[in-house]
Amino acid sequence: MNKKIYITRKIPDVGLKMLKEKGILFDMGTSKLPPSKKYIKKMLSKYPYDGVISFLTDQIDTEIFDTCPNVKIFANFSVGFNNIDIEEAKKRGILVTNTPGTSGTAVAEHAVALMFALTTRLIEGDKFIRKGKFKGWDPELLIGTDIKGKTIGLIGVGDIGSRVAHMLHNGFGVNIIYSDVTQNTALEVDTGAKRMETAEILREADIVSLHVPLLPSTKHLINKSSLSTMKPTAIIINTSRGPVIDEKELINALENGIIAGAGLDVFEFEPKLVAGLSKLNNVALTPHIASSRQTARDMMAEISVKNIISVLESGIALNSVIK
Ligand code: NAD
Repeated sequence: MNKKIYITRKIPDVGLKMLKEKGILFDMGTSKLPPSKKYIKKMLSKYPYDGVISFLTDQIDTEIFDTCPNVKIFANFSVGFNNIDIEEAKKRGILVTNTPGTSGTAVAEHAVALMFALTTRLIEGDKFIRKGKFKGWDPELLIGTDIKGKTIGLIGVGDIGSRVAHMLHNGFGVNIIYSDVTQNTALEVDTGAKRMETAEILREADIVSLHVPLLPSTKHLINKSSLSTMKPTAIIINTSRGPVIDEKELINALENGIIAGAGLDVFEFEPKLVAGLSKLNNVALTPHIASSRQTARDMMAEISVKNIISVLESGIALNSVIK
């Protein structure tokens, strides 16, 4: 009998073609919005699927595992995998994979774009014009800041963080400081980056950019006390995961001049924003689209499907996140 998987939302055709070529059948969710856990459970209990392609918006935990005892692999269609209860999967012998390295360029470029959106006051300028407020050139209008010569503090320099470092150092002449649980010697050699404790980064950097996974150790890494140590002129960029920042405290810091600005692609309670955030002028906000490029999406589909094929054919997860 042919193997069959469930895909919780539409993936690019390149992945579906690979499944068809291998004779792997699939059912696929069609909703544009994240399916509810109830809906995923209902679908998974309809058929003894062999595998699942899940998304970062799907909360995969005991309740889900209980409904699909035949599933051998959850191939998560993303780099992050904080939506899956990894310990529980491990206990049950279920394999979990991600799509490392697929969106590095896209997310790094997006992080840099958010930095420039703030330093050039691009979004404020756009709103100003659209509101009909532009009455003539004014040397004091929306004064921005140069990025050249500034110090950028990167927290996490894996795939994405190190790409940001290269872009900014080679392209814009910034100084790089970083914190990571692992030393990145290649990055230090290539960009002159200096490794420091996270607390020092927060004190020293003109721009702090977050590139860590969401883990118990990184939840609210940026909180009331860490924000209070940053420069009042500093800006913070988050393209990692929303809960890395305590969003309520961030709003307080932005409202009270504790820091100067924030560029956010991810939110603590997304898709909801904490009250007050969207009213601030010193923020640039995007709806979790940092990796939204067709090249990245196609690679994510390919890698998810390769993991499904490998596990269903030989029991080997190519990109296991279970240590
Ligand atoms: P990666 O695994 O290559 O790099 C993560 C780095 O963080 C590693 O070097 C790791 O050692 C470091 N790290 C872990 N804990 C740390 C800590 N407490 N302090 C300092 N460093 C720590 O991952 P990546 O591909 O660079 O992606 C990073 C994160 O970005 C992902 O986990 C994901 O959550 C997020 N992401 C977001 C989007 C988006 O669309 N906004 C897209 C892709 C990835």
